[in-house]
Amino acid sequence: MEIIKAKTAGFCFGVDRAVKLTYDLLRENRNVATLGPLIHNPQCVADLEKKGAVIVDSPAQVPEGYEVVIRSHGVPQHVYDELAQRKLVTHDATCPFVAKIHRLAKQAGEQGKTLFVAGNADHPEVQGIVGHTAGPVFVFSCLEELKKLLTPENTKNGIFMVAQTTFEVKKWQECAEFIKKVYTNAAIFDTICNATWARQHEAESLAKKCDLMVVIGGRQSSNTQKLVSVAARYTKAVTVETAQELDPEWWHGAGTVGVTAGASTPSSIIEEVLSSMSEEIREEELSFEEMIDASMKPVYNGKVVKGIVTSVSPSEIQVDIGTKQTGFVKLEELTNDPSAKAEELVQKGDELDLIVTKVNDQEGVVYLSKKRLDENKGREAVAAAVESGEILEGYVTESNSGGLVVLVNNVRVFVPRSQATLRHGEDYTKLVKTNVRLKMKQCEGRHIVGSIREVLAAENDAKREEFWANVEIGKNYTGVVKSLTNYGAFVDIGGVDGLVHISELSWNRIKHPSEVVSVGDTIEVYVKDIDTENKKVSLGYKKAEDNPWEKFKAEYPIGSTFTAPVVSITKFGAFVRIMPGIDGLVHISEISNDRVEKVSDVLSVGQEVEVKLTDVDFEKKRISLSMKALLAADKEDAE
Ligand code: SF4
Repeated sequence: MEIIKAKTAGFCFGVDRAVKLTYDLLRENRNVATLGPLIHNPQCVADLEKKGAVIVDSPAQVPEGYEVVIRSHGVPQHVYDELAQRKLVTHDATCPFVAKIHRLAKQAGEQGKTLFVAGNADHPEVQGIVGHTAGPVFVFSCLEELKKLLTPENTKNGIFMVAQTTFEVKKWQECAEFIKKVYTNAAIFDTICNATWARQHEAESLAKKCDLMVVIGGRQSSNTQKLVSVAARYTKAVTVETAQELDPEWWHGAGTVGVTAGASTPSSIIEEVLSSMSEEIREEELSFEEMIDASMKPVYNGKVVKGIVTSVSPSEIQVDIGTKQTGFVKLEELTNDPSAKAEELVQKGDELDLIVTKVNDQEGVVYLSKKRLDENKGREAVAAAVESGEILEGYVTESNSGGLVVLVNNVRVFVPRSQATLRHGEDYTKLVKTNVRLKMKQCEGRHIVGSIREVLAAENDAKREEFWANVEIGKNYTGVVKSLTNYGAFVDIGGVDGLVHISELSWNRIKHPSEVVSVGDTIEVYVKDIDTENKKVSLGYKKAEDNPWEKFKAEYPIGSTFTAPVVSITKFGAFVRIMPGIDGLVHISEISNDRVEKVSDVLSVGQEVEVKLTDVDFEKKRISLSMKALLAADKEDAE
């Protein structure tokens, strides 16, 4: 007889998260109270109690000094209010899929719509959902009940329909189809979680090919009971909480037995059940020789095992899984990263969690995969991030013309090129072999899509907000030159591009900003002006201390004499360059004691002339020089 274990059996993402959180708190010696039993598994709950956790029904019952854990089912809004009132330290392990339904329920109330919830009215998750809407709400468990609730009074303000995350997929589809036909504008949200959907789907296909289905899980667990009813449609289905409840009678006449488990069933119990089943079946069916083999641990497709690495080669690793067979994990089953090398990932002696993919008894070898096990775990986290909006980290393994492939929690996530960079046209291929942060957009079947751009855009928005909250005239910033135009340079000063006008780049007259800065330069700037309404910033770059007028003032008092070149000639005089950016005028009447008809008759551009500083108008930036004054002085000296 063959035993086939469902790949989806065991803790779902939400339950795993809540259980880990609680065990972590207990390990840190915190006093922990859970609002209701943490999960629908008496064995796990008993273990938590043994480790010190107490179970309470309401915030009022939480003993002093205890921290509260909200289980993955979530709680109604009034419980949050009571927790806040008592100022209790709270760890909210509400599953993100459930939290999303809370948001929808709230929305229904705010829009004055009637909320219809597909589920079990007595289930804590449903009670939590109901407690998040301020409007009318009805719970139904099947199409017949829904039909009775659809009265003109109940539907006159519009309909919002959601489902308990573990509701039976087929029943939901029936109800949704019906509502769509009757009310064209009903808002229908399929909130059955991915883990539930996949679990029920697998239970259904397994049941179709098995003579018996064993469903492991708590009797109070809604999703476990749903699995039993899904499987029972196609074959005989039984449910057990522990291995002790297995009945050897069940195996009589069964050729193939399928095993699945509810979302709150710990893997230790699943393993125990599988192991007991194998022993019981073998005792009944196997020959003496085979019974000797039975003393070895059974291995079958889908079994999760621990393997100790015994050798590592570039193309595969060998593992000891504690049985007579030799275990092999091919490189492509070790990781999803095509550029990874086996020796960089594992070492001899490492212990790995692996899933059996193929057993070849004749050759005595077992093929295993680490990648698939990691993927299964990672996929739930990725699906949850789609709902919660949590930002995940990943490693870019490759690029192609469509975008990037990023490994996130061992799951290959596609990032389209339009979502790979903040600005259109930026080179996204340079991200290969780097770590990136992404927002998960979709996780359905093979369509797992993320966006790096959204994370960058959100970070930019936050920076921009911070900038506008703190900016003031005169404040200094370090910025990066992003682009140049004829009239100035745009500089990124942290999410905001400010303009340094060409006249602000240099004290000297320049024709183009590129004479002073280049794209990519990091420069120091200060805020000259801000337009908060139009979100525009004018920046200054040239420094006051470099102002040639200040230097001129300090170095050239009235009356000082010096030699300087003529830089231009006009009909009313000649301009002389005193220093870069500062020219003075020798008026035609100040060139010589003799009458000068035409300036160019006596002076030429480039000619060095001796002048005296006779007057300065700093406001109008005018400097008067005289050559004649020196001639007069010379004459006096001679006399
Ligand atoms: Fe688990 Fe799904 Fe429930 Fe979350 S919503 S706790 S993933 S079954």
